[in-house]
Amino acid sequence: MNFYLLKELLIKFKRFIITTHINPDADALGSQIAFYLILKKLNKEILLLNHSDTPENLKFLDFDNKIEKYVKEKHIDAIRNYEVIVLLDLNQANRIAAMEKDVLQSNLIKICLDHHQNPSEFADYMFCEEDYCATGEIIYDFIKETNIIEIDKQIAIALYAAIMTDTGSFRFPRTSPKIHRIVADLLEKGADPTEIYEEIYGKFDYEKILLQGEAIANIKLALNGKVSYMIITKKQLEKYNASEADVDGFVNYCLNIKGVVVSFLFMELQNGIKVSLRSKGNIPINKLAAEFGGGGHFYAAGIRIKDYKLDDFIPVLLKATQKYVL
Ligand code: 5GP
Ligand code: MN
Repeated sequence: MNFYLLKELLIKFKRFIITTHINPDADALGSQIAFYLILKKLNKEILLLNHSDTPENLKFLDFDNKIEKYVKEKHIDAIRNYEVIVLLDLNQANRIAAMEKDVLQSNLIKICLDHHQNPSEFADYMFCEEDYCATGEIIYDFIKETNIIEIDKQIAIALYAAIMTDTGSFRFPRTSPKIHRIVADLLEKGADPTEIYEEIYGKFDYEKILLQGEAIANIKLALNGKVSYMIITKKQLEKYNASEADVDGFVNYCLNIKGVVVSFLFMELQNGIKVSLRSKGNIPINKLAAEFGGGGHFYAAGIRIKDYKLDDFIPVLLKATQKYVL
């Protein structure tokens, strides 16, 4: 990737908006904060603007409390007046949801950094490469290759959180010797793995664990035991006072069953449904997601749809899954 071009852009312009995708995870937010810290060291004017609220367990990443939730009336002037928008951990404009239209219609120069497959060429500058395990890894390589700034403790924490979570705590297939060398460097710069893990995965609300229990107790098998799935209804979310973000990670339990190679989590949203898809072995689950307008990675993908009821969509998705698990 042409990191020198990216460096030139960051030096040339002065006013940057940085954003990331709907329902942001730690790679999204860690990348956003790391990028903010780079630009801060370069004395730029910076606005951190997201469609979604920051999930409770990731608020520690936003240690300066800088991230604002997009409100059109409040932020439209910024969208019109800033020079550049940096879009992180996404490769389709619809992933910024409520911001999409205003950003696409603006004169903002769009710079995208991402590691998902099949990018749509919506930005002016795309730094996208699917071999990376996390957007945080791209940012690390950018810093190292260009020496644009020194990595300090805060940047190390942000990048460690990004990489730790997007590698599934260093177990997904793209976990490489290189990534462990990067992580060794981040630890030397002051990232504390025990503390960061505790912040992200060690402080769940009691209610969330109970919801997880209920979801696990109702896991179903399909397609000769090769597929498993869970359902989270609106009613359950209300009962346990949980949000979409609270359900993050539940789907992994489905995939831990012997013989299962594809798992789904179906969740009822206020308006429509969301499906988290996961696979093992040689099954490109993002292809299945793409059949329904979703996308993601080889082993982890998502779909959001409005025009189906949950009970009606399950058999449709299972039928489409058949050809992948034969
Ligand atoms: P999750 O199930 O954890 O929400 O999402 C898994 C992966 O699928 C994410 O890393 C993201 O890249 C992708 N993904 C999730 N939802 C969507 C979606 O609605 N559209 C697209 N294109 N990708 C999604
Ligand atoms: Mn990511």
